[in-house]
Order: sequence, then structure tokens, then C-alpha cells
Amino acid sequence: MTQSSQDVLSRRAKAVPPGVFNATKIIAAKAEGAVITDIEGREYIDFAGGIGVVNIGHNSPRVVAAIKEQADKLLHSCFHIVMYEGYISLAEKLIKIAPGNFEKRAALFNSGAEAVENAIKISRKATGKQGVVVFENSFHGRTLLTMSLTSKVKPYKFGFGPFAPEIYRIPHAYCYRCPIGREYPSCDVGCADALSKMFIGQSAPENIACLIVEPVSGEGGFITPPKEYYAKLKAICEENDIVFIADEIQSGFGRTGRMLAMEHWGVVPDLTTVAKSMGGGMPISAVVGKAELMDAPQVGGLGGTYGGNPVCAAASLAAIETIEEDNLLAVAEKLGETLRTKFEGLMDKFPIIGDVRGKGPMLALELVHSRETKEPAADKTRELVAYCLERGLILLSCGNYGNVIRTLMPLVITEEQVEKALSIMEEGFVAISK
Ligand SMILES: *Cc1c(COP(=O)(O)O)cnc(C)c1O
Repeated sequence: MTQSSQDVLSRRAKAVPPGVFNATKIIAAKAEGAVITDIEGREYIDFAGGIGVVNIGHNSPRVVAAIKEQADKLLHSCFHIVMYEGYISLAEKLIKIAPGNFEKRAALFNSGAEAVENAIKISRKATGKQGVVVFENSFHGRTLLTMSLTSKVKPYKFGFGPFAPEIYRIPHAYCYRCPIGREYPSCDVGCADALSKMFIGQSAPENIACLIVEPVSGEGGFITPPKEYYAKLKAICEENDIVFIADEIQSGFGRTGRMLAMEHWGVVPDLTTVAKSMGGGMPISAVVGKAELMDAPQVGGLGGTYGGNPVCAAASLAAIETIEEDNLLAVAEKLGETLRTKFEGLMDKFPIIGDVRGKGPMLALELVHSRETKEPAADKTRELVAYCLERGLILLSCGNYGNVIRTLMPLVITEEQVEKALSIMEEGFVAISK
């Protein structure tokens, strides 16, 4: 007999601690494309995509087939003990995807946080330095080091200290709330000078191993810097022997209409971290980049029991093949245009929308009580999310003030589903604007 959602929720309350958060009370039974069906048969259009994991759609057929095929052959041998070809094929694929005309390597891990941890380890070993430069409004994970890198205290860090040392924080190019109080383009992207200033006030470049940045910040509010920004940062890194790491865990694999978001800025990172949509729904991550850096750690210094698991590697190869064969980058670009047009239209109608930003279909709406004061409207954001959920649309918020709506829907969402979801959102804006 199938249970009611209420039954499962009360079992959840007794068995699972509240720290393991839930954005909704939905108990999923199955999912396909852009739709999740709960155990009572209710359907939801999914604008969260399992937090940006299913860009190619829920239960994408190639991925499901690849998992089944691999499961029949080999579930696990541990790459460190007995190798298998899938790990190597995926590394080769990632090397092709990552930009840069230099020799590259890729190492596989399980989660985004694990990829970030390893990118920092590799940078430290390769440079012989320790410091890490991170950005305000950043999110890099929940392990001790990645939580230390993350720039949002509640809920991610509160009470979990002491934090990892040698982390230096500078403002990101958050144009809507400009850290230097200027306006683009007359600002000359002066916010990038924060890096050189940091060398004076916080730590010398001789101590800085790496800088890690999300091209479009995920949890931090889809902050999308101007086109000159990353080239400026990269130049400063090059001058000072600092490894430039792009954290593409949320922004990668078609999310912005490109395989990797940093392509929009034309900057070639030294190392890139990838996860989320790389696995098509399976837990897998990687660090990919310059061979001279990747080869620095001693034998045995990198890895883990499950990193690049055979089933996850097969799923990832199928996910990447799906993006390529089904032209999902072009699909993403078109979806991004549809969404942006709609969102800019909503901004004309609803003063509560202070900013529309992002790249391709990785778009955000920042909600404010007043366009003059830009006071964050977290309460209204929560109301909107609840309104939409009630009507069958899963929306995710983000931003340090929780006042940003972000779109992470599967790229394979149908036009009909987009239309339905956007009309629910519009009704939601009418409701919260009253
Ligand atoms: C989700 C995310 C991470 C952490 O990934 P996990 O798989 O949750 O450990 C790191 N960086 C960015 C940009 C992310 O969006």
C-alpha cells in the first residue's frame, strides 16, 4: 500500500535531523524531463533541477540506459586498486571540454565539495603556497574547508567553527549592489582592484596559492560580473603565480548556454571544478586543468574510495553525450532568451523586481521592497516560492539575503511547461505585489 506524503513526513521527522534541510515537503515517486511526480500523483514543474543537477532532464534516457548497462558489468573496483576504462574516457572527455591550449589532466571525485577541496590541495602543492582568495557571496560546499571558503554564515557556517585558516575574502562584481558604489561601464570595473588591495592589507601574493571563483555565483545570488572582470583578475593571478580556479559546479554543462560558463568571459582558468549536471543525476565531480599543476601532488596524494565510480562515470559520459548529440547548448540559449524576455517584461510590470541577471537560462530575479533603497524582500520571495509551489511549480531562492529567485530547470523543458510555469510565476507576482 502506498503511504500518504503526511505519513512519510512524520517518519522523516523522527528519523532524519532537521539540519538536513528540505526546501519543500514533496515526497517524490518519479520524475521525467522537467516534471516530478509525488507519491500521491501530484505533478510539479521543476525549476530547481535537483539544484542544477539535471540540466539534461530527469531520468534522461541515455543516462538511465548507461547506468543499467554498467551495473550489469562492474559496480566498483576502486580506481586506485583496479582501473577501468570509463574513468579514463571521462577524464579524456573533460580535458576536451575544458578550455586552454596546454596539456591537461582530470581527476574524478564524488561531490562538488570534494572537487573544490582537491583543487585547493593541488594548487597548494604546485605553488608551495597556502593562501586562498575567495569572494563574498560565494558558495563552495559544506565540508570544513569548503564551508570555510563559503561566504554565507547562516545556515552554512553558524556554530561550525573554527574554520580552516589562510582564507582571504574580497568582494565580487555584484553590479546591482556595487561594492565600490559605482556604475558599469563608467566604473571601469574598478572592483577587480580588490585583489591587489588585498595583497596590501591581508596577505602578500607570495603567500597566495590560488583564487577560486564561481563565474556566475550559484547560492550567492547568480551574481554575473561584467565582461572585463575575470580577465582583470586572471592577469593579476598570472603576474603573481596564483592559480586561477573556476568553480563551475553549478554553472557548467549547459546551464548558461555554454559547456562552461567562463567561456562567456573568454578567460582560460588554470583549474576548473565540475560536478552537478556533469553526472546527469549521479554523484560525480572532477578537477580538470593544467597538467603541470595536476601532476604536482605525490602518488597517493589524490583520490578516494569511490571517486569516479564506474556507474557514475558511465552516467556522466552519457550525460555529456546527450548535451552534444541533442544540441542542448543551442536549446539552452533559446530557453535563456525566452526566459529573459519574460522576466524583463515582469520587471516592467512589478516594481518588486529590482534586477534581472544571469547568462543563458541561468537567470535570476532579485526582489526588493523599493527600487530606491534596494531593501531585500526575503519575505516576499518566500511568499512567491510558496505561492508557486502550491500551484505546481518548484522555485528556488538564493542570495545572501534570500531575496533572489533563480532558474535551474532542465534544459529539455517543453515550451508548454515553460509557458505554464511562467504564468504561475506572473500570478505569483500579482499576489505578492498586492
Ligand atoms: C553545489 C556547489 C558546490 C558543492 O557541491 P556538493 O556536491 O554539494 O558538495 C560547490 N560549488 C558550487 C558553485 C556549487 O553550486
